[in-house]
Amino acid sequence: MTQEPSPCDLLVGADLILTLDASGTILHDGAIAVRDRAIVDIGPAAELARRWTPASTIAGKGRIAMAGLVNVHNHTPLMITRGMIEDLGLAPMYTPGVPQGHWLSEEDAYALSRLGLYEVLRAGCTTVVDFYRYPQALARAASELGLRAVIAGRVHDAEPGALATGKHSYSRAIGEASLRENAELIETWNGHDDGRIRCDWAPHAPDTCSDDLLREIKKLADAHGGNIHTHLSQLPAEVAAVKERTGLTPPQLMDKLGLLNERLIAAHCIHMDPSDIALCGRSKMTVAHAPIGNAKGGRIAPIMELQEAGARIALCTDTFSGDMIEAMRWAISMQRIHRQGHVLDARTVLGWGTRAGAEAIGLADKVGSLEPGKRADIVLLDSRSPTLAPMIDGYGVLVHGASGHDVDTVIVDGRIVVAGGRLTQADGDAIVAEARARANALWRRAGRQPVG
Ligand SMILES: [Zn+2]
Repeated sequence: MTQEPSPCDLLVGADLILTLDASGTILHDGAIAVRDRAIVDIGPAAELARRWTPASTIAGKGRIAMAGLVNVHNHTPLMITRGMIEDLGLAPMYTPGVPQGHWLSEEDAYALSRLGLYEVLRAGCTTVVDFYRYPQALARAASELGLRAVIAGRVHDAEPGALATGKHSYSRAIGEASLRENAELIETWNGHDDGRIRCDWAPHAPDTCSDDLLREIKKLADAHGGNIHTHLSQLPAEVAAVKERTGLTPPQLMDKLGLLNERLIAAHCIHMDPSDIALCGRSKMTVAHAPIGNAKGGRIAPIMELQEAGARIALCTDTFSGDMIEAMRWAISMQRIHRQGHVLDARTVLGWGTRAGAEAIGLADKVGSLEPGKRADIVLLDSRSPTLAPMIDGYGVLVHGASGHDVDTVIVDGRIVVAGGRLTQADGDAIVAEARARANALWRRAGRQPVG
C-alpha cells in the first residue's frame, strides 16, 4: 500500500548534499523537505518526491547543498575600518584616528551592520555572533535581513580616547553606560523573531574592563544564561596592561573572576604561554579563531595547542572579511606554517565552521548540520562554478577551492533570504550605497578624502 504524501512548505533539491552530520553523510541527487521552519525529511530526491507535496520547490540541478555556516565572532559596524585598518597593525579600538566606536551614531552602526550582515549572509553564513556599541541597531539589521544572530553590546570601562594612545584609564560612567546598553538590548531583543535573535553579554577584553566591571558582568551573565563573548590575549599591549594592573595574565584573570569556563567564547587567544594554554584547555572554553584578522596583524594563534589542551575551536571572520570559506582555508595554511607540518584538513575546519560553532553557542540541537528536527538553515552553492570542480570527496574542493561567491541561495529558518546571490528581504544595492555614504562622511571627519 502506498502512503499518501504529506504537505510541506518547501522541497529543496541538490545534485549533492553535504549534511555535515556526525558521520559525514553525503547524498547524491538528494532533497530536503522543510515544514514549519524545520527539516522534516532528507534523503534521495525520488523518495522525497513521493513522500511530500511541497508548497514550493527549489530544483536540484546544478546545486550543492550544505548546512549554513556559523560565524562565532563579529562586529559589523567595524566594516567602517575595512581596507584601512589592515595596514595599521592594531585592532581598531587601540588605533588612533580611526573612525569607530564613539565616532559612530546609532544610524551609522545600523547602516554598517546591514552591510556586514549582507556580506556574511551572501557568503553562506546563516548564524552570526555580532557585538558592538549600539547593539539594538545590530539586532534590528539582523532581524530585517533574516539571519539567525546572537547579539551583544560591547561592554568596557576603559576610556576609548586614552586607549587609542596606549593608556588604560577606567571610567565608572562609561562602564555603567555600556552595561545599560547591553541590558536594554537583552530586555528588548532576546528571543525576538521566534527565537532567531538571541542576546548575550560581551565584555570587550580583560584590559578594557576593570576587575569590578568583569565581576558585575559575571553576575549579570549568570542570571541571564547563554554565552559570554570577549577578546582574550589578542595583543601584547593587552597582556602587559592586565599584568601591570593585576599581576596576572589575561586567562589567569578571567579564571580568578570565574569567567574562564565552557560558556566563554574568546576571540584570538594569541599571546599565551604554555601555562595559559593549559589553563584555557582545562576550562573547556571555546576559541573564536579569526585566522584572517590574526594573519593581517602578523600573528598566528596557537589553536592546535589549545585544542590539544582541551579547548574547543570554532571559526569567525571578525569583520575583516565575511567569507567563512576563506577563513577555513587560512586556518589550515597558518597552522601548517605554525607547526611546520601537515596538520588539519578540509573536513575538520568545515566542522569548526558549522557544528563546532553551533555547539559553542548552545544551538547544536538546532543548526550546524542538515538533519531532521533541526532548523532549515541551508546553503546552496552553484555546482557549475569552475571553482567547484572536480568534486571528488566533497570537502576538499569546497574548502580549498570555493569561496562565498559560489553561494547562490541561503535559507534561514525555512525562509529563502538570498536567491541568485541577491537578498530577498532588503535592497542589497541600497545597503551598500548607504553604508558607503556614511563611511565616507566619517572618514572625512578623520581627515581622509575617500576616492569612491
Ligand atoms: Zn573582535
